[in-house]
Amino acid sequence: MAAAWDLKKAGHDVVIFESAGYVGGLASGFKEPHWDWSVEKFYHHWFQSDKDMLALIRELGLEDKVVFPRPYTVLLYKGKWYPFDSLLKMALFPGLGWGLNKIRFGFVGLFLRLTNNWRALEKVTADEWMMKWAGRQVYEQMWKPLLVGKFGPFYRDVNMAWMWARIKARTTRLGTFQGGFQKFADLFAEKLRGLGVEIRLGARVESIKREQARLSVRSEKGVESFDKVLVTTSPNLMAKLCPDLPENYLKGLLELKSMGAVVMTLSLKRRLSKDGFYWFNIPKEEGYPFLALVEHTNFVSSEHFGGDHIVYAGDYLEAGHEYFSLSDEELLERFIPAFQKFNPEFSRGWVKKIWVHKTNYAQPVPLVGHSKNIPAIQTPIDGLFFASMSQVYPWDRGTNFAVEIGRRAARMMG
Ligand SMILES: Cc1cc2nc3c(=O)[nH]c(=O)nc-3n(C[C@H](O)[C@H](O)[C@H](O)COP(=O)(O)OP(=O)(O)OC[C@H]3O[C@@H](n4cnc5c(N)ncnc54)[C@H](O)[C@@H]3O)c2cc1C
Repeated sequence: MAAAWDLKKAGHDVVIFESAGYVGGLASGFKEPHWDWSVEKFYHHWFQSDKDMLALIRELGLEDKVVFPRPYTVLLYKGKWYPFDSLLKMALFPGLGWGLNKIRFGFVGLFLRLTNNWRALEKVTADEWMMKWAGRQVYEQMWKPLLVGKFGPFYRDVNMAWMWARIKARTTRLGTFQGGFQKFADLFAEKLRGLGVEIRLGARVESIKREQARLSVRSEKGVESFDKVLVTTSPNLMAKLCPDLPENYLKGLLELKSMGAVVMTLSLKRRLSKDGFYWFNIPKEEGYPFLALVEHTNFVSSEHFGGDHIVYAGDYLEAGHEYFSLSDEELLERFIPAFQKFNPEFSRGWVKKIWVHKTNYAQPVPLVGHSKNIPAIQTPIDGLFFASMSQVYPWDRGTNFAVEIGRRAARMMG
């Protein structure tokens, strides 16, 4: 959509093919009839440092709809929750111990904030680098849970530039859009349509082929030809849609690793966290059946949801994990004992409704020397371009970087 905005403004005719019946992709949301706001299928917020997204929002004239509440993020240590939303608060985390560890934590944090040399950091794994510079206790208490949570079996393979990007590009203030991310996507779509961009919903692309001077796009409705095409799906799907890509490029797409995600959203009759915490980080070794519990209505008011309290419980999982095949009810059965740890009074009767969203493509896994694995935006097929979450590296995926790469692709296509 960001690419379409720039291309249309540059005078091109633009058609968006969207297989779903709505816009927004992984950042889309859903809504009950008695809710004023939607909730995201996969918890989402913006950082104050999301400059490309915030600049686009300003361009669209929607900046008055962005809000930055002050939620509380916490981390579990020995059965208690501790603040975890700024380097300063993290430095006070008791898991770090005292003395040298706190100093090492501080220096490592400061170094990562100040350096721009991510190319040196991508040559080593985060596991090795952190063990060496932050030390075992700081690493194991603070940073390792983040790696294990996000990357599961691949956590030892992730390069240090990923960790650098997380610390460099994220602020403690978290933002959202009044009405939810879906509202933003819908307003953006409305602006695009206003400019004359054609957005076709429920239009799944089946293949893209070069035929003489143009690219043929096959969808359920038949074949149409275009001068240029930008694909914004997962690398795996890109490989399937465009089998004529040269072997090297295809191999590069198929070798990229990623994690999936399973996120349950619950609407509850009562507030779960008595302390009003928003984001609970849970180290995997604590044995909870999910990685993060997020009480959305401790970030934005439950008034927007007709008084319902909205809670997410989610995890990053490798494809084939059993959570992908459990029914929603089976997953809830697994989760209920854990909810009671957040509030002993919690019972099944609090649950009004649940929704479970699953995706195989949630989080690219950046390995050592990853910059050489990134597929070029301009593919070897003339006129065919590709921009996905896997190419925003060294930055971690996020809507901000989707906007940035979309606009970069538009400039290249222009
Ligand atoms: C669990 C989770 C939490 C996240 N949290 C945040 C967050 O807090 N903040 C943040 O900014 N970002 C977050 N993100 C990342 C954010 O959602 C992505 O960076 C962003 O949505 C990527 O946008 P995209 O357009 O590249 O891809 P997508 O959102 O994946 O969009 C691709 C689109 O292509 C469509 N499509 C697929 N196949 C076809 C086909 N054959 N034909 C036509 N259309 C097709 C899909 O329906 C989809 O709409 C999160 C993601 C996940 C999974």
